Amino acid sequence: MNKLLVIAAAAASVFTGFQAGAQGYPGTKPISIVVPFAAGGPTDRVARDLAEAMRKPLGGVSIVIENAAGAGGSIGANKVAKANPDGYTLLLHHIGMATMPTLVRNIPFKVDSDFEYLGMVNDVPMTLIAKPMMAANTYKELAAWINQNKGKINLGNAGVGSASHLCGLLFQNALQVDMTTVPYKGTAPAMTDLIGGQIDLMCDQTTNTTSQIEAKKVKAFAVTTAQRLGTPVLKDIPTLQESGLKGFEITIWHGLYAPKGTPADIQAKLSAALKVALKDPDFIKKQEGLGAIVVHDKRMEPAEHKKFVAAEIAKLSPIIKAAGVYAD
Ligand code: ASP
Repeated sequence: MNKLLVIAAAAASVFTGFQAGAQGYPGTKPISIVVPFAAGGPTDRVARDLAEAMRKPLGGVSIVIENAAGAGGSIGANKVAKANPDGYTLLLHHIGMATMPTLVRNIPFKVDSDFEYLGMVNDVPMTLIAKPMMAANTYKELAAWINQNKGKINLGNAGVGSASHLCGLLFQNALQVDMTTVPYKGTAPAMTDLIGGQIDLMCDQTTNTTSQIEAKKVKAFAVTTAQRLGTPVLKDIPTLQESGLKGFEITIWHGLYAPKGTPADIQAKLSAALKVALKDPDFIKKQEGLGAIVVHDKRMEPAEHKKFVAAEIAKLSPIIKAAGVYAD
């Protein structure tokens, strides 16, 4: 390129803002974090707490949450995959990034190549919960109730590819009982129906279930982790393993993503702000109170985040296939 063209190209890039890089980023323009599930649910909860904690390290900029719910989280993920890679549209997603490629055959984006990985946020256990008027009070009684009600049981979830979908499938597979799955745009609306008794059962993250269990609005029967949990509200709930479902273990995790092509220096700013947020005592306290564990290991690093998601895809894909479940 000759000198004149270089100057013209530089002027054009300043004029359009294209490739502006981190200089002046984020400035005063709000950043949007897309949550691919309904407002008021567990992913939304994590995103709102995280947005608050990332605001300060990003110079006090507004961070708004945009709920782009539906299709088990793939609508919101696709929106970010196709968004302008300028650092102002991000995605907060969960284990769905690793289940969608197997559970949903036709996702319109590629998990590995359409995103920049910014770092992981937390690990969140799940709980198996039931409507408040459920006759059973212990896991043993619930298992008997399930056997007596085969063919009539409604299991809520947040759509094909969601965490609740995965957990529900593994649960049905472990019991060898088919339930009617009822998909919602997130487990916030599913929770409303569970409390009202329109559905019978649901698997959901502790970030959504802790307060409902505490208020006795739902009945909790098991946690999905290998060990019991330590929080006051959840500590007496047995694990599915100790209830007889050998090897049943599932933990949900969340990560932060930007569209592919986001300038490297903007990615670095966002990852650095994420790390500050992960050490914020308020953020840690809020998350721990809901049974979540904030990531403090190497998965805070973008490259390790990406490796972890690839490893989860490799781990979960045969499990999902063995459970014999697919959806288009
Ligand atoms: N808990 C939901 C899921 O099952 C997602 C949500 O509503 O945040 O994936």
